[in-house]
Amino acid sequence: MTVPKKLVLIGNGMAGVRAIEHLLKLAPDTYEITIFGAEPHPNYNRIMLSTVLAGSTELKDIIINDWDWYKENNITLHTNQSIKKIDTQRKVVISESGIEAPYDEVVIATGSKAFMLPIPGADKEGVIAFRDIQDCEKMFSAAKSYKKAAVIGAGLLGLEAARGLLNLGMEVTVIHKHPYIMERQLDEAASLMLRKELETQGMKFLLSKHSASITGRGRVKELQFTDGSHLATDLIVMAVGIRPNVDLAKSSGIDYNNGILVDDFMNTNIPHVSALGECVEHRGVAYGLVAPLYEQGAVLAKRLAGVETAGYAGSVTSTKLKVSGVDVFSAGRFVETEGSRAMRIQDDVAGTYKKIVIRNGKLVGAVLFGDTADGASLFASIKSGESIEGREKELLLGISSDLLGKSGGGASRLENMPDDEIVCGCNGVTKGAIGDAVLNKGCHTFGELKACTKASASCGGCKADIEGLLHFYAGDKVGESAKEGICGCTSLGRDEIVEQIQSMRLMTVKEVMHVLDWNNKEGCSKCRPSLNYYLGMLFPEEYVDEKESRFTNERYHANIQKDGTYSVVPRIYGGVTTPADLIKIASVAEKFNVPLVKFTGGQRLDLFGVKKEDLPKMWEELEMASGHAYGKTLRTVKTCVGNTFCRFGTQDAMAMGIKMEKAFERLNAPAKFKLAVSGCPRNCAEATIKDLGVVAIDGAWEIHVGGNAGVKVRACDLLTTVKTEEEVMEWTSAYLQYYRETGQWNERTAHWIDRVGLDTVKKALEKQEDRLALMERVQKALSVTTDPWKEIVDNDELRKNFEPIAGPLPV
Ligand SMILES: Cc1cc2nc3c(=O)[nH]c(=O)nc-3n(C[C@H](O)[C@H](O)[C@H](O)COP(=O)(O)OP(=O)(O)OC[C@H]3O[C@@H](n4cnc5c(N)ncnc54)[C@H](O)[C@@H]3O)c2cc1C
Ligand code: SF4
Repeated sequence: MTVPKKLVLIGNGMAGVRAIEHLLKLAPDTYEITIFGAEPHPNYNRIMLSTVLAGSTELKDIIINDWDWYKENNITLHTNQSIKKIDTQRKVVISESGIEAPYDEVVIATGSKAFMLPIPGADKEGVIAFRDIQDCEKMFSAAKSYKKAAVIGAGLLGLEAARGLLNLGMEVTVIHKHPYIMERQLDEAASLMLRKELETQGMKFLLSKHSASITGRGRVKELQFTDGSHLATDLIVMAVGIRPNVDLAKSSGIDYNNGILVDDFMNTNIPHVSALGECVEHRGVAYGLVAPLYEQGAVLAKRLAGVETAGYAGSVTSTKLKVSGVDVFSAGRFVETEGSRAMRIQDDVAGTYKKIVIRNGKLVGAVLFGDTADGASLFASIKSGESIEGREKELLLGISSDLLGKSGGGASRLENMPDDEIVCGCNGVTKGAIGDAVLNKGCHTFGELKACTKASASCGGCKADIEGLLHFYAGDKVGESAKEGICGCTSLGRDEIVEQIQSMRLMTVKEVMHVLDWNNKEGCSKCRPSLNYYLGMLFPEEYVDEKESRFTNERYHANIQKDGTYSVVPRIYGGVTTPADLIKIASVAEKFNVPLVKFTGGQRLDLFGVKKEDLPKMWEELEMASGHAYGKTLRTVKTCVGNTFCRFGTQDAMAMGIKMEKAFERLNAPAKFKLAVSGCPRNCAEATIKDLGVVAIDGAWEIHVGGNAGVKVRACDLLTTVKTEEEVMEWTSAYLQYYRETGQWNERTAHWIDRVGLDTVKKALEKQEDRLALMERVQKALSVTTDPWKEIVDNDELRKNFEPIAGPLPV
C-alpha cells in the first residue's frame, strides 16, 4: 500500500476548498489533507454575504462544506489558525500559534484583503470593510444602535453593502470618487439608470467626492471630504477595492507582484508550492470573482492528481448585481474603443437598456439593465470568440429564444459544451452536474435544479443557461415534476412524507432527509421547519424539538421587528386582565424603556422595541406566560363581555374564551390559529372570521371554522351546533387535532378547509368515538408543552443565547 502524501492547504476559502473537492474526486486516497483557515468557520460561500446582509439568507445557509464534510473526508481542519510562514527548505508550514505541519505539497489560497483608504481616522471604531462574516456581524450590530451609514465606493460590493444596510433600517449615503456609479462594470447610460432606481429605494449618493479624513472621539462621527464638505455618520463601510493577500509570499521567499506569481498550472517559483484564487496573479491578472478561481482550482486538482490538463489560460468575467432588486449585467470590454463599435437599445418606459460591443466581427462586451435574460448567452458568445457577423441585430433585439437551447444554434451551443464546463460560476456547477440532476435525480423544474445543484443560487447570472440545459436534458418532461414536492429538496409531497416518517419511525430531521433521499442533504428553510413540525406532531412524547429548524421568532419567543428589536406579548387569557397585571406590564414597560405599547387586534398588549438581551429579564419581571404571538400555535381567544355585562348576551362568552385559551395555549399547529367567542349572534368578537369561532345562540353554541381576515377575507363555515360547554371543548379539540394531523406546514385553516373540503372535515368529526380519539391525541400533545419564557428564565444556559454576541456570528 502506498503511503499518502501530505497536502497542506492554507486558506479555508472558496478557491482552495473547491480545488480540494476536485482532488478528492480525482484521486481520493493520494493525499493526507490538512487545511488551515484564519476564520473560525467551516468553508462558506463568501458571495452570499451580500444576501445575508440583505436579509434574504441566513448565515447557516451559506456554509458550503460543514464540519462533518471535513471528518467524512479525513481532512484535518485548523480554524482560527493563521499561517505566518512556509519554511520551503524544511517543507513545513508554521502557524501564528506555533503549530507546524509538514507537507509534500502546499497550496496557498489566502484570498484578498479589503483595501482601506489610508486617511486619518480610518482606524476608528465603526470603520469597517465588507469581506467576511465578522464584517456582516459588525453591520448587524451597528444597525441596532445607530442610524446613519456611509459606504465609500459605488462598485458592486459597495452597492450590495448599501442595499443590505438599507434593509437593516439605516440611512445610507454612498460616496464615490467618479461622476457615475459602477463605472468599472457599466457604461454611463446604464449607470445613470441604476442610480435613479437606487435613489427611489432610498439610497443617497455623493458623487465626485474624495474622502479626506474621518473624525470622532473613539467612534466615527463625521466623514470629511477634500472639497471641505462633510457628512455625519455612525458607520463607514469601505468598499474601495481588494488587494491580493501576498503576506505569505513575502515571509516565505515566494515571487509576487500584485499577487503571488503562478504559471498556467498554478505553480509558484518554489517547487511543491502552488497557489490559486484571489491571492494570485496569472499572466498579469489578479481576479476578484469566483468563476476564474474555480477554473484555476480544476487545473490545480488535475495536476496534483496526476491527470493530464491543458493548463489555465485566463478568463473573461461577467458581473451581476445580486441584491438591489435591479437586474444589471455586464461582461467583457463593454466600453467602445478605437476599432470597436457599439449597438444599443434603450426603453425608458420599460426601464431597460442593452448594449453590445463588437470588434472584428466578434462580440467583445455587453451591458444589460432592467432585463438580463440574455446575459448568459451573450457571455457565452464573448467567451467562445465566435463570429457574429450578420447576426448583430438579432443579438441586440431577439437573441434569447435561439440561445436558450430550445432550438437552432443555442441548442447546439449547449449540446456541444463539454461536461466539465462550469455553467454556474458562483457555485462552480458544471454542465455534467446539471445533466446528472435532471437525468438521475429527477429534477425537472428550475427550482428543483437550483435546490439540488445550487446552480443559479447566488447571482442568478446563469439562469438562462440552466434553463436551456434543463430543456436540453429533460425535453418534454420539463416542469413535469407534477408530483410537487414540499420544496425543491424533494419530490415527495406532505402526505407521503408523513406516511413514511410514521411507517419507518424516522425520528430526526436529518434522518428523514437521509432516508427519504433528499436532493439537498442540508434541506432548506422550507422543508426543515416542516419536518420539525411533522415529527413533533407524530411523536409528541419522543421527538426532541429542533430549535435550529425553527424561524428566528420561534427561536427567541418574540417577534423580530424591522429595526431588529423584538416585541413582547404576555398571555392575557380571553383578553380579560386585572389592574395588578396592568400595573405590572406598565412598570416593566417603563423600566425597559419600551418605546411603544399597543393593543393588538386580538385584544392583547404588545410591548414593542425590546432588545434581544432584555427579553429574559422582562419575562422574569412580568411573571406571565408567553402570549405566543410569534409562533405557529394558538395566538389568542378574543371574547366579548357576553352575558356577564351585555344585555344582549345569551352565554358567558368570557368564561368560555378563557377556558379555551387555557386549554389550547402552547399547542403547535401547521400555522398560527386564532379563536374567538361571541356571546350572541351580534358577534362583537368577530368570531366568524377566525380559524375557529364560537357564537352563542339561545341555549346553544354554534361552532364556525376556517375563517381568515388576512389578505383575502374568508368567512367561516358552520361546523356544528352544540348544547354544552363540554361539547364545545370536545369539538374544538377534535377539530384542532384533525387540522394538526392533515394540514400542510404553514397552511392556515382557511386554505386547508378549501383544500380538503368542509364535508371531509365534518365526516371526520361526526362520530363521537372519533372525536374522543382525536381529543386524546391533542391532550397528549398538550401534556408535553411548557411555557417557553419560564423555561428560559429558569435556565442560565438558555439565557446565554440572548446575550449580545461579542465575536463573529455562529454559523
Ligand atoms: C460580499 C461579497 C460579495 C461577493 N460577490 C461576488 C459575486 O457576486 N460573484 C463573484 O464571482 N464573486 C463575488 N465575490 C468575490 C468572491 O467571494 C471571491 O472571489 C472568492 O471568495 C475568493 O476566493 P478565495 O478562496 O481566493 O479567497 P477567500 O474566499 O477570501 O478565502 C481565503 C481564506 O483564506 C484565509 N486566510 C488568509 N490568510 C491566511 C493565512 N495566512 N492562514 C490561514 N488562512 C488564511 C482567509 O481568512 C479566508 O478565509 C464577493 C465577495 C464578497 C466579499
Ligand atoms: S356579541 Fe352579543 S353578547 Fe357579545 S357584546 Fe356583542 S351584543 Fe353583547
